[in-house]
This record gives sequence, C-alpha cells and structure tokens, in this order.
Amino acid sequence: MWGRYLAARRLLGLSRTLSQKSWRWKSGSVNERALQYKIGERIHGFTVNQVTAVPELFLTAVKLSHENTGAKYLHVAREDSNNLFSVQFRTTPLDSTGVPHILEHTVLCGSQKYPCRDPFFKMLNRSLSTFMNAFTASDYTLYPFSTQNPKDFQNLLSVYLDAAFFPCLRQLDFWQEGWRLEHENPTDPQTPLVFKGIVFNEMKGAFTDNERFFSQHLQNKLLPDHTYAVISGGDPLSIPDLTWEQLKQFHATHYHPSNARFFTYGNFPLEQHLKQIHEEALTKFHRIEPNTAIPVQQLWDKPREHHVKCGSDSFATDPTKQTTISVSFLLTDITDTFETFTLNLLSSLLVGGPNSPFYKALLEANLGTDFSPDVGFNGCTREAYFSVGLQGIAEKDIETVKQIIARTIDEVIEKGFEEERIEALLHKIEIQMKHQSTSFGLALTSYIASCWNHEGDPVELLKIADKVTQFRQHLKENPTFLQEKVKQYFKDNPHRLTMSMSPDESYYEKQAKLEAEKLKQKVNALSEEEKKETYEKGLELIALQSKPQDTSCLPALKVSDIAPTIPFTELEMAFAADEIPVQYCAQPTNGMVYFRAVSSLNTLPEELKPYVPLFCSVITKMGCGALGYREQAQQMELKTGGMSVSPHIIPDDSHLDAYEQGVLFSSLCLDRNLPDMMHLWSEIFNNPHFEEEEHFRVLVKMTAQELSNGIPDSGHLYASVRASKTLTPAGELQEMFIGMDQVKLIKRIAEMSDIKPVLRKLPRIKKYLLNSDNMRCSVNATPQQMSQASKEVENFLKGITRSKKERKPVRPHVIEKSPEPMLVGRERLNCSQITRKLITEPTFKPCQMKTHFLLPFPVNYVGECIRTVPYTAPDYASLQILARLMTAKFLHREIREKGGAYGGGATLSHSGIFTFYSYRDPNSISTFSTFEKAAEWAQAGEFAQQDIDEAKLAVFAAVDAPIAPSDKGMNHFLTGISDEMKQRHREQLFAVSSDHLIDVANK
Ligand SMILES: [Zn+2]
Repeated sequence: MWGRYLAARRLLGLSRTLSQKSWRWKSGSVNERALQYKIGERIHGFTVNQVTAVPELFLTAVKLSHENTGAKYLHVAREDSNNLFSVQFRTTPLDSTGVPHILEHTVLCGSQKYPCRDPFFKMLNRSLSTFMNAFTASDYTLYPFSTQNPKDFQNLLSVYLDAAFFPCLRQLDFWQEGWRLEHENPTDPQTPLVFKGIVFNEMKGAFTDNERFFSQHLQNKLLPDHTYAVISGGDPLSIPDLTWEQLKQFHATHYHPSNARFFTYGNFPLEQHLKQIHEEALTKFHRIEPNTAIPVQQLWDKPREHHVKCGSDSFATDPTKQTTISVSFLLTDITDTFETFTLNLLSSLLVGGPNSPFYKALLEANLGTDFSPDVGFNGCTREAYFSVGLQGIAEKDIETVKQIIARTIDEVIEKGFEEERIEALLHKIEIQMKHQSTSFGLALTSYIASCWNHEGDPVELLKIADKVTQFRQHLKENPTFLQEKVKQYFKDNPHRLTMSMSPDESYYEKQAKLEAEKLKQKVNALSEEEKKETYEKGLELIALQSKPQDTSCLPALKVSDIAPTIPFTELEMAFAADEIPVQYCAQPTNGMVYFRAVSSLNTLPEELKPYVPLFCSVITKMGCGALGYREQAQQMELKTGGMSVSPHIIPDDSHLDAYEQGVLFSSLCLDRNLPDMMHLWSEIFNNPHFEEEEHFRVLVKMTAQELSNGIPDSGHLYASVRASKTLTPAGELQEMFIGMDQVKLIKRIAEMSDIKPVLRKLPRIKKYLLNSDNMRCSVNATPQQMSQASKEVENFLKGITRSKKERKPVRPHVIEKSPEPMLVGRERLNCSQITRKLITEPTFKPCQMKTHFLLPFPVNYVGECIRTVPYTAPDYASLQILARLMTAKFLHREIREKGGAYGGGATLSHSGIFTFYSYRDPNSISTFSTFEKAAEWAQAGEFAQQDIDEAKLAVFAAVDAPIAPSDKGMNHFLTGISDEMKQRHREQLFAVSSDHLIDVANK
C-alpha cells in the first residue's frame, strides 16, 4: 500500500483511538512493571535510555537503543491486550521509480527462513492478527501488525523480521510486484508486449483520484530540494526505469538496523520482544552510517506559483467549475514538538468548522464546492506546512480566491480568535485523550512516525497534557500570541506556494500516449534474444504462480488455539417515558457517555425516501432552537465529541426479504456535559432550522464533492451495492441510500439553480423521523454514571413529540420481531422490550441485472453478487468459510498475482449476499470468468483440511476483533443479534467441514 494518509497528519487525529481495558489499572500492572526499568540497564543487546510515565494516556514509554547496530526502540506499556509491533525504515528516494514502494511489496514475497511465495498473505490465514499491513510514506516505510494472542505475536514477529531484514528479492518477485514487459496473453508470443505489475497498476489507479494527484504535486513543489520532490509510490511513467539491481541496492542501504526504528505496544512483556528481535535479526548486522537524513529545506526569498493539469471529473456538479487552487505556507521543523502543537491548533482555528475565518470567507463565498485537498495542517514531512484554498471553482475565480485568502489572514492578525473557540478545541483534545478505540497501538505508531523519523523525540510527542498547559500559559502571558504566529508564518512568510489545477479533457488520452511511447521505447530496445527471454520469463512467472505452494515452513496457530466461547456482554433493558426501550451497557469508558437512538422510517412516504441521506447529513448542521448554525456548531464543539445522524438499513437475521429501515443518531460527550448534549438533541428534534438556504447550498455542494471524490477509492463498493440491488428488497434501498443512485441524486441537487423545493422536503421528513413514535435508545457509560444518564434520557424522551394517533406504515407488510430471551449472568431475562418492526416484501422476486458504469479511469472495479441465506441459517457459517477459502486459495492468485489487479476476493455480508469483487483491475470480462472458475473450483472440492483450518482462523480473526467499550452491545442494539446467537454461530463455524463447503458451493 502507498499513501501519505497514514502519516499522522493531524495531531488532533491521534486519539480517535484510546484503547480498551485501561480501567484495570491495578498494582502489578504493566505500567508499574515498566516503571521498574533502570536507565543504563542492559537487556538482550539493548540499553534502556529513558523511562517516562504518561498518565493522561494511561501508558509508560521505555526508550532503548541497540548497542551493536544503533537501532532505535520504543516500547509503550499499556493495559491493552491488542499488542502491536512495527518496524520503520527511513526511505528517501531521489527519483520517482517507486523503489521504496516496490521494495515494500517485494520483501513480502518470501525470505530466507520463509522462502515460500508471499508469506505475508499466507500468514493472514495462519494467525489471529487484528491488523497486518505495510505502508510506504513519503520518507519512511512502516511494517505494523497487531494481535491479542502471545503465541501469534511471536509467530508474526518472526515472519516480519525475516521479511524486512532477509528477503529473497527474487527477480520474478520484482517482476510480479513492480513492473515487467509481458505479452498481453503471456502464452501467445504473437500478442503485443505490454507493461504489467502490481505497483504499476496500483499507481495508475492512485492518480485517478484528483485530490491525491493535487496533494502529491503540492508536496513536490513546496519542498523541491530533496526526497519530497519525487513520488515515493512511483510515477507510472518512471516505474519502468527501475532495475532489479537498483531495488536490491536500495534494500541494502535502507533496510538496515542502523536505519531502523522498532516500536512495540501493549501488555505483553518487553524482554521477550527484545530477545527475539536481537537474536533473530540484529545479531547478524554491524553498525553502518545510513546517510538517509533529509536536509532542511532551503527557504525561498519570494513566493512561487505552479499550475497542473488533471483528468476531468465526470461527476463534477458543474463541468465549467473544476479548478482547484490553494495557497500553502511552509511552517516549522516537526521535531520542535511544542511549536508544531501550537501551529496545529492554530490551523484548526483557521479552517475547522463553520465558525472558522476561512470557512466563512471561502466556503460561504459561493465560489467553489469544498476546501482544496490537504486543507489545514500537514505534518508528515520534515517541515510541516499549512494549506488553504478551494476546489470546484471557475478558472476565472483564481485571483478572487487568492485575494480572499490574503485578506482573511490580515483580518485574523487584526482581530484574533474568540476565546470560546480556543476552549472548544482544547475540549476536543480532552475528549480525544479519553475516548478509547481498539487500535490505539496503530494510532500511536503512525502518530509518532514522522517526528521520530527525523530524530525528534517520540516520547515528548506523547505528553499532550504538558503541551496544553504550556499553551495556556503562553496565551495568558501574551494575549496576541496566536496573532503573532499568524503574522510570522503566513503574512511575512516568503516560502509560499500558490498551486492551481484544472482538468484537461484529453488528459487520460495524453497519459495513455506517453505510456505507449514509453512502451515502444522499451520494446524497441530489446534484442531478439531478449524478446525470447521476455516471453520465457512470462511463462516462468505463470508456472510459478500456478504451482501449489508448500507453506509448511510458516508458523501457524491451530483451530484449537481459538477460544471456544465468547465473553458475554451484560446489558440492561428498561423503558423510558413509558414505552421507549433503552439499552444500558456499563463499560469502563474513562468518563465518557455514548448515546445512540434509532428511529424507524416505516411511516415515511416513498417519495421522500431518496432524500433521507441528505436529511441525515445536514440535520445537525442547520441550527436549532435559539442557536443559529454557527452557534450550534460552537456548542457541539464545546460540549460534545460529535453528534451525527446516518441512514440505517439492517437485513433481518432469518429472512432475506425482511429488513429494518431507520436512521441512527450517534453522539458522545464527557460525563459532565451530558445534560448539555441531551439538550442539544432535544432542540434538534423539536426546533430544527430549515431556513438558511445559502448554508444548505454550501452543505449540499460539500456532500456532492465528497461523494464524487470518494468513487476512485470505493469503486468496488459501488459496484457491489449496485450488483445486489435486484437481489433483495434491502438491496434496493441500499442502492438508493449509498449507491450510485444517491451519488447522481446529490449531484443533481447541487446543480439546481433553485434549491428551495429540496429544502422544503426536509421539514416534511422531520415530521416522520424526529419523534419518539418508533424509537429505541442505547447508552454506554461507566456504572457510576448510569443513573444520571437514565434521568437525562428520560427527560429527553419526555420532551420530544409523540404522535397522538398511530401512523400507518407506508408499506403494509410489517412484521414485529422480538429478540429471543438473553442470558445475563445466570439468569434468563426476557428482553422483549426491544421489538423491531421489519419491512417485508413477500412478492419480491430477485432478478439478474448487469450494469456497467463507464468511469474515466484506466482501471476497473468489478462486482458480482449472489443471493444466498440469512445469518441464522445453518449454511451461513459454511458460506462464510467458503468465501474466505476462495479468496485465499483461488481468487487472490488469479486476480492479483496473475491478473495484476490490486485486489480481489469474495465476501459474505450480513444480508446474505455473497459478493465476488475486484479492485483496481486492468481486466473486467476475464475477471467475470475467474469468478465462475472459482465456483467450479469450490464445487470440485480441491482443498485440504489445512486450507479449511486456515480459512477458519482468518474468519475468527475477524469475528473476534476487539470491540471498544463505546461499541459493546451495539450488535444487539442495532441488529438484534444477541451474544447467544453469536455463540451458536461460533459453534457452527467450528463445525464446518469439507462436505459442508462442497455442499454449499453446489447450491
Ligand atoms: Zn502498494
């Protein structure tokens, strides 16, 4: 994978993710153990350099270095079972051949100890990992994994170390993963030679995303002196210049312990990690001088401008308005952690939310559709930068946008910021430190990666509470502290780049021509002898890819290592305001409350339905009660961690033609702010505003732009949603809510000159949705907070409207569904309180349909769906295993390795839809026949018990993925699937046999 998005761009993005179980802070805890390490202590070739407690994140950081090689090591001890390892290399290419990216792929193709092809992908099926991946950023490459199982941790660590330090880097691996010349049909030397290769295709796909294209050029031009001037992922036109020799050389100099940073996280003991890393990898090296440091960027003495051309966006709301422009300012060295913290906050004040000066000045000027890509603070390069601008503007408005930006900066320097906005931002940091997610280790490793990469202190970066105190102090001593920074970094900064991008109708055509020229040049350079070799290598590659693999060298967990039962979550049910069911789930939430509600769509007239997603995305942003939309946004930032609404379609667990339709309200806040948050919900339910037409237009345009920008990354999802549209009634609604139909509707609305008719639909939808007629609620909070929470929920529900007479559902076929009794502790409770009203369509006839969307991209997304059985049917477990088996043992090989697509496989969704898909695929027709062959392959039953066991491990790794305290019990609340049903399903998964698989494949 390649992308700059992994890098911790936003400090504030950090703690979407504090992990679970931190409440078990008790004596003998991992934190106390970590605090025992002494500075200078030597453990397995490493020396302890620093031990620091960071109480606000419930962790202890231990910094070490390896004596012989100089490898750096950071261990973060925390009471979290989802342990993580990562190794990071500073990779600083000086050309756009994509060498670090191709290397990232190639090292995963086999190593000395694990010479089988693709051990990395094979391990996905032999492990209970909760995360495994590899990333190439602009200036480093990172290999992280996480797991909750200690044995699994050792297995994966062994495979990762061997891959990174002792890869085979065979020529055929380079050809498969990087680029190669091969006959279109490799077995037919009469067909023309073409470029193939996974990274080659991946990058062709990546740059069909105009936002990413813009971001890439922006970085290249703003930091033009060294590694940031090139494309680390690879430019498809430069990739064919890379040789196998250069690849091996790059590995030798960059993937060396002296250029490595190791990171471990969680509750497993540190000594074990150190011992294994030292013995299996580091003892085999001696220190070198890697010379990979990136020099400081030479500052410009005057601002620069740059213009680029891109492909045109066929989903753009207005084809004459497809220009993007932004102004970017080079800020500070990211190793200066306090200055970086301050500038990050400052950036949020400038561009975050409807009260920020740039939102008001740019978005509300009605010139463009949304901010330009990478708006705000960017901290993943050695020097951070700030960027602001607009996309979706007319070319003639470039000057106007530039003037607005300059004027806004002057105004900020003069007026400063409201105190309340600064408080709201600091409140947000407090929430982010308390809110726990299940991937905290992963969030940490990406958060520290950039700063550490440039010799900054990662521990310093973690001390967020110190930074907040220091920040408050500065502000107190000097009230114009922030204004002075704006003057220094924005007004008086000559290192500033104005970049614009506009579409060129023939852009893709021109790119194709350049590629054809490159191809011709490469082919012409081949001698007859080399041509023959090329043909033979092509055959060799196919032979290798088709050869059955001996994977016995790889470590593996066994099915018996999987826990036979799941821990049950205790839930409490009660009625509030007489008859509205509320689910309470007491959890160690660190002083946070999570409130959710579901309201049914059953009574909503059909003609209003397509507007539900739009209603959801604007209803918390239009103002309510006495608050205008700006004040409402301010209150939400000051008092909550977010309030949002989304459409909710849940297929039934036992009938494919039944489903629940509604909208989901979600919100979170600190304990102390619960009354304020519930008051906001009351105002939104009772007195939402629908008057601000201009503001509504801004929101619609932003939604349209986001949807359009999302297609290149989610093409396979759109394809799958569309393909399942005619298979179940829920599928039809899915397509309306989240499929291409929705994209087109929003685009049409954004193009309307008079938007009032759409705006007028919202209060009508409100009448059906924002009441307590068909509602249920849920609360996740600490046990101490529950009684307070239930009072607040009661008040809220009493205060919102309830229809006097019952409204009739629009579709007559409604079935009432009560969950089965739940087992709580040892008692059986009858939880029939939550009765879900499902829609069913007894006359629905699934039918086949084919659609092909022409997208202006050089790659395809293919989806094919089959209607199967619901969750509770006995065949469901077999189909789930079968999907995994087909992906691992057949589709991955055919679609990715042979076909050259970025990805492909099969999945089974909760709705009982079995989906084949491919992602960024150079083929389409032949992929369909691959799908067919996969089914034949399964019917023939050509798989071994080992294959089935591996598929089971992979399925259980997903089933047993950790769940954050905020999300415990959500399955039950949303879908009605109880822990008992899950346990039953678990037993069915364990019981799946070869015969079952062949049986379901034949149905
Ligand atoms: Zn990649």
